[in-house]
Amino acid sequence: ALTAGIVGLPNVGKSTLFNAITKAGAEMANYPFATIDPNVGMVEVPDKRLDRIQELIPAKKVVPTTFEFTDIAGIVKGASKGEGLGNKFLENIRQVDAIVHVVRAFDDDNITHVTGKIDPIDDIETINLELGLSDLEAVDKRLAKVQRAAKGSDKEAKAELAVLEKIKPVLEAGKGVRTIDFSEDELPIVKGLFLLTSKPVLYVANIAEDDMSDPDGNKYIQSIRDYVKDEGAEVIGVAAASEEEIAEMDDDEKSEFLEMEGVEEPGLNRLIRASYKLLGLETFFTAGGKETRAWTYKKGTKAPQAAGIIHSDFERGFIRAEVMSFEDLDEHETQAAVREAGKLRLEGKDYVMQDGDVVEFRFNV
Ligand code: GDP
Repeated sequence: ALTAGIVGLPNVGKSTLFNAITKAGAEMANYPFATIDPNVGMVEVPDKRLDRIQELIPAKKVVPTTFEFTDIAGIVKGASKGEGLGNKFLENIRQVDAIVHVVRAFDDDNITHVTGKIDPIDDIETINLELGLSDLEAVDKRLAKVQRAAKGSDKEAKAELAVLEKIKPVLEAGKGVRTIDFSEDELPIVKGLFLLTSKPVLYVANIAEDDMSDPDGNKYIQSIRDYVKDEGAEVIGVAAASEEEIAEMDDDEKSEFLEMEGVEEPGLNRLIRASYKLLGLETFFTAGGKETRAWTYKKGTKAPQAAGIIHSDFERGFIRAEVMSFEDLDEHETQAAVREAGKLRLEGKDYVMQDGDVVEFRFNV
């Protein structure tokens, strides 16, 4: 399963955020297994479409989809040189599919900041520098190998050499690989290098409770957005400490608290959805009967493989999929009405799944 890794300097609120995630996850009705790894937290993906589908095509139960966060503790300055268990942290980051980078954007004199001042940009620079140095080392090693091979007629080596030579100066300038535009041909080569700064990233500004009702009003957030613009990265403000409290509340307390703060939903929901998108994940639905359920697939997945997520027999015996978009169901309200409107589609094995598809698979057993 794809996982988003939470990284950040010490004392910025990573564990607090991770606790909020695991506590919210622990409430899950359909949590399929107990916590296997204390560094992995499972969350449900909040999705209002699921409630609407249940309203239109009632089932016995409703099952949201889930995905994982991984807590990557304690990166420090010098990590790329192996300081403070540095190599291990970098190795852990290498294992995740996307990075959720937490920075401190709350003032609190009682909580020490590792560098002695609140400066989220400096926090980002510190970590990205370590990741970049580690990448530079990897690129140099690879260059030494490929340069030799590229002298001959090895086409692949030549192509890789060109990519490495494009990457190196960017890393040397202190920028991440994700700031580079690659061609369609180059992308698979880049992917094969497994560089840390090429992973998709999302920045989380850990804001004060006072900023909760208006996260974008936080005094640091705009400068963070400007700073990460060339990475094409999203920045969201979340009050980690408050989110941890919210995750512990029962439903009534929760609504009361959120109403008091003047927010529609916990900030954690925004973080979860943004991370899901960052991982390239999308959702299709199955409706009615025993359960109305959301399923996660990787963007670009075709119908038979999507069917296989439900059950391997569905993939093996796949005949076709009956598909309607959530928007069409929402508008016409029943499958019959969607069909009458000519919006119910029969899709074959080459159909690429679209986010929000409501699907019935036909298969041979
Ligand atoms: P980590 O080292 O990045 O995992 O940081 P922690 O989650 O352990 O947080 C460090 C300290 O900051 C703890 O004492 C937290 O209670 C506190 N903290 C975390 N988030 C917030 C916040 O949003 N507001 C305030 N005031 N304190 C926070």
